[in-house]
Amino acid sequence: MDIEILIRISGFALVFAAMALWEVAAPRRRLTAGRKPRWPGNLGILIVDALAVRILIPTAAVGAALLAAGRGWGLLHMAGLRLSVAALLGFLVLDLAIYGQHVLFHKIPVLWRMHRMHHADLDIDVTTGVRFHPFEILISMGIKIAVVIAFGIPVVAVLLFEVVLNATSMFNHGNVSMPVALDRVLRRLVVTPDMHRVHHSILRDETDSNFGFNLPWWDWLFGTYRAAPRAGHDGMTVGLPIFRDPRELRIDHLLTQPFRTDAVQASEQGVQERKLAEPEGEHGRRPDQAGPI
Ligand SMILES: [Zn+2]
Ligand SMILES: [Zn+2]
Repeated sequence: MDIEILIRISGFALVFAAMALWEVAAPRRRLTAGRKPRWPGNLGILIVDALAVRILIPTAAVGAALLAAGRGWGLLHMAGLRLSVAALLGFLVLDLAIYGQHVLFHKIPVLWRMHRMHHADLDIDVTTGVRFHPFEILISMGIKIAVVIAFGIPVVAVLLFEVVLNATSMFNHGNVSMPVALDRVLRRLVVTPDMHRVHHSILRDETDSNFGFNLPWWDWLFGTYRAAPRAGHDGMTVGLPIFRDPRELRIDHLLTQPFRTDAVQASEQGVQERKLAEPEGEHGRRPDQAGPI
């Protein structure tokens, strides 16, 4: 268990430091809110999440894999596959499960309430990649444990998957620029920052695309892939129509966002009303623009 924690912490620290340096050396977008008001809340939530999992589900997904291995539970054990094949298939199954879970967190209103905290960040950078409400983390862990037991996913695949997912989440939330050609090649294998940024657009149809965190293939397969935001990466607005007040970046506000019904309804209603009030095109002139006759 000690080695497991060491692997997780060193993996996190290395990738976090590399991404933070890359963001300073070659930023992709100008941050609107900046780091100072955002990083304490985003990193604070990471600590709350880690403690919540350790206290409430101490054995977590790796423990479930050990249990399944000991008892011979799950489809992959029953199939009697070689460890390398079972580990590879197990990794793919977990990634598909996380994709499916992400879609559900967008489609089911009560789950969206928890997940929208991730989307309410006013900028997107390496710290957004660890900004998830503790309830979402606990539900996600429950789903992962169920998948690990049902499929009998090997311990090595579960640990590798969790370390890789943590790293790719920080990578694909990074505010980093890279040559377009490199992005094009990379996004055949892994979700890139330009691909995931579309998912953080304020426009709902763009938010409901590019659900993958790790492998990009599920989005292509299920028709949820979107290559770029309509307004471009520099012109797009990051975040949600609600929770745009900078005070919402504080950790106490982050924790209570799922419960704030009144703010949501008022804001969503406001957006709808604005949509109805704004005509599609600019036809005709306002009276104050009328020229002399
Ligand atoms: Zn999402
Ligand atoms: Zn995200």
